[in-house]
Amino acid sequence: MALSSNTVRVALMPGDGIGTEVTEACIAVLEPLARRHGLGLGFDRLRAGAMAYRDTGSAMDEATFERARDADAILLGAMGWPGIRYPDGTEIAPQLDLRFRLGLYAGVRPIRALPGVPTALADPRAAEIDLVILRESTEGLFAARGRGEIIDDREARDTMVITRATTERLSDFAFNLARRRAARRGRKGRVTLVDKANVFTGFAFMRKVFHETAAKHADVEAAHHYIDAMALDLVRRPWDFDVLPTENMFGDILSDLGAGLIGGMGFAPSADIGDTHAVFQPSHGTAPDIAGKGLANPTAMLLSAAMMLDWLGERGAGQSWADASAELEAAVDAAFAEGLRTPDIGGTAGTAEVARRVADRI
Ligand code: ATP
Ligand code: MG
Repeated sequence: MALSSNTVRVALMPGDGIGTEVTEACIAVLEPLARRHGLGLGFDRLRAGAMAYRDTGSAMDEATFERARDADAILLGAMGWPGIRYPDGTEIAPQLDLRFRLGLYAGVRPIRALPGVPTALADPRAAEIDLVILRESTEGLFAARGRGEIIDDREARDTMVITRATTERLSDFAFNLARRRAARRGRKGRVTLVDKANVFTGFAFMRKVFHETAAKHADVEAAHHYIDAMALDLVRRPWDFDVLPTENMFGDILSDLGAGLIGGMGFAPSADIGDTHAVFQPSHGTAPDIAGKGLANPTAMLLSAAMMLDWLGERGAGQSWADASAELEAAVDAAFAEGLRTPDIGGTAGTAEVARRVADRI
């Protein structure tokens, strides 16, 4: 369904810990940005997460889920807290329920070096790192989430599920994304599937379906790479990669590796996108070690919001949304290029100061 009006309603879920802090910083930047571009941007604040669970017995009640589902987009801080768990011992993670219930199969995790932000690599080409890890987010090794089997006290099993339908959708998404990036960056797009097709039936099937889908996208180069080799090459030559679709668990791990390359979790935005819904949130967690101190780096949240504006524009909200997205990203880049440094990269600029410095560039 395309967006029908100029006014967009965003379900805002600040969550727990630094989730609430980076959300406030993000609103402080989005409000002036929306005013400047004449965007009708309204927020519906919703409570969900570990504190909601502690206080109400429900991490995300049904009415909250429905309001999030009926919004045009969902913007989320981070959820979870040490010591607060479901009775079966698993972490409070209603964002996983959103992923599964709304069919958000594409976990989009851009890994881009920001100007002036030190990367983990000494090679000067590290400044050119600009890739996207595309994590399949509804099946793979997470398909059995919460339904693993303990056979007896000596053995436990989880099942990996790879379906044709999801692999085709993920592959199409990867090629379409590479095409848009290519147009922006003025170079040919390349999609590299990351798998372990030499050992697992599921991955051999995934690779076969990926290359079948690739035939429909001849303008984009299609390649594949083993996960172990990719772990090596993402450290050795990350600037060579473009769009990297992969299985759920592999994507989970590679996303953190990728964030480590470009300054850490505070710089890693993400989006979980399906055919009709999308959730935008930083890749990081609630960071209990720094929560409440005003030190959290809100950059990942700001870049996630930029992804949201771009997605809304693409879905019919109009060109000014895409323009606002580009301006937000450029403002973040400019602030860091000018010397802004957050504590996670050895600086002193706290959460509110980053918001102020970025808003100043708008
Ligand atoms: P999750 O299980 O939700 O992925 P996690 O245990 O992996 O959470 P995070 O909350 O992501 O942990 O934090 C990992 C480390 O990175 C912590 O030391 C935290 O302080 C730091 N960190 C995470 N996000 C930020 C941020 N936005 N700014 C500064 N430091 C951060
Ligand atoms: Mg983590």
